[in-house]
Amino acid sequence: MKFLSVLSVLSVLCGSSFFAAALEREAFTIAKYDLQIRLEPRQQRLGARGKITLRNDSAHPQKIAALQISSSLNWRSIRVDGKVVQFVSQPYISDIDHTGALSEAIVTLPAEIKPKDSVEVEIGYEGVIALDATRLTRVGVPEEIAQHTSWDQISSSFTAVRGAGYVAWYPITTESADFSEGNSLFEVADRWKAREAGSDFKLALSLQGGSVDAILLCGAEARGSSAGAGRDRGIRVECGWSPLGTVTPTFAMAEYVDQSKAPLELFSLPGHEKGAAKYSNALEPAMKFVSGWFGQPVAPVAIADFSDPHSAPFESGTLLMASMAAEDSKLAGINLVHELVHSALPSSRPWVYEGLAHFAEAMYRQEQGGRQAALDLLGLHRAAFLDSEKEVAAAAQKNVGEKNVGQPLAGTFDETYYRSKAAYVWWMLRDMTGDDALKQAIREYRPEDDKDNDPKYVERLIESAAKRDLGWFFDDWVYRDRGLPDFRVQSVHPWKTDKGVQFITVTLENLGHAGAEVPFTILFEGGEITKRIEVRAKGTATTRVELPEAASEIVVNDGSVPESDMTNNVFLIGAQQK
Ligand SMILES: [Zn+2]
Repeated sequence: MKFLSVLSVLSVLCGSSFFAAALEREAFTIAKYDLQIRLEPRQQRLGARGKITLRNDSAHPQKIAALQISSSLNWRSIRVDGKVVQFVSQPYISDIDHTGALSEAIVTLPAEIKPKDSVEVEIGYEGVIALDATRLTRVGVPEEIAQHTSWDQISSSFTAVRGAGYVAWYPITTESADFSEGNSLFEVADRWKAREAGSDFKLALSLQGGSVDAILLCGAEARGSSAGAGRDRGIRVECGWSPLGTVTPTFAMAEYVDQSKAPLELFSLPGHEKGAAKYSNALEPAMKFVSGWFGQPVAPVAIADFSDPHSAPFESGTLLMASMAAEDSKLAGINLVHELVHSALPSSRPWVYEGLAHFAEAMYRQEQGGRQAALDLLGLHRAAFLDSEKEVAAAAQKNVGEKNVGQPLAGTFDETYYRSKAAYVWWMLRDMTGDDALKQAIREYRPEDDKDNDPKYVERLIESAAKRDLGWFFDDWVYRDRGLPDFRVQSVHPWKTDKGVQFITVTLENLGHAGAEVPFTILFEGGEITKRIEVRAKGTATTRVELPEAASEIVVNDGSVPESDMTNNVFLIGAQQK
């Protein structure tokens, strides 16, 4: 095998201890990128040069750095202080790239870099980025399905390439990630994101030999067109993220039809006019809704079309890629609301930035289709984090230190948490505090005041608007990961006053380690009554409800509180009495 022979040559060259002990692949964080990327779509080619700053985040001095790019790209030059440095290039198997492997340059730096110190490195690399779903097909995903997820490519008709986690079109420094090994891929990718969140990323993208109608974009504010640049000059756009946050640097190029209307940049493909019109038509109501809750959307956001209508949508920062082939006005409205929330409310906290946008989608669904439609939309999120929360609960049961398991929402870079779990948390906060209080808190939110050294900022805003202590809730859901609640009816006691008025005393129990305020519905002949009650972790709560008729059934939780077990939520009163 080609791969093995390269490795064995290397181990002869470098000595066997080289790979075993010396190489700490995640020692260096790339604190700064300044890249010039030239695209040649007809050859599916990319050529890169630029500077990166490596910062030693490990506890030891480092002389060796492992820089990785996609295995379809090749290292051309690496310099420090203007001088060529020695490096060995080797393939490195890792599912963090769509090809399932990386081209790794093992660089010997001119001097040891002490912990916290940095070194600037000039780099050059090039190669092709073609459609490649190897990392999926080798774990058994059929090629056709795999390509709907793994759609990154450079080509003259359609180009779209996402960064780390999809295609390493810029250097990264990671341990090998494996799709088939539980969560390893996501762990490595999330760890990379968290390490890079504070980094600066600057990109100048140019296009040579594209179509005369091409539009090139790398973010909502950065786009260029062949028409604008003139036929011979090629297009050039610049993008920058400082800090990077949760953004995955991404670029796209196609013969887009530009239907932008501030703050929305809308790029659709010919043949998808009706689908694009759904977006245009949905803009005004979506703007109105978002303004009412989150303030006026002013910053630009972009939505760009796919050539393959089956491509899985993708979002990074203020750029959403979603197919406009479907002509689905519900989906267009929800996508717009999501992006407009980003436009109105910037935040460097993922659970605030993305959580609020997903929460807004659910509220918009409620406005159009009622509470159940909103809960159904939220329900699509539950599966995403249910399994990891079950592990957290199991660990809590065994009294494993909570430091080792779980992911506090406040600091997580795991998408399933900062998108899906966060959407629920905002929804529960709304149910607990009411629209007016939550709106007021959101309106008072200032990203610059949401500082790392003040983790309770959001809690204080909501508490003062709602005039209610929410410390216990933030403790269980935001500052710590304590798994999910698990509610059941512990006991019911129906009784009548002397004057014949019906009452029922209900005691609910929460078997989980996270508390919540949960709705419960009492059913009786001819109607139902819904009440809400706060049930703390591992606790019970009792309340008395007046009824017009004898109760027949109690249903706990309408789906608005994510729960680990929903099979024990219905209590038949008749059955108990018999
Ligand atoms: Zn978003």
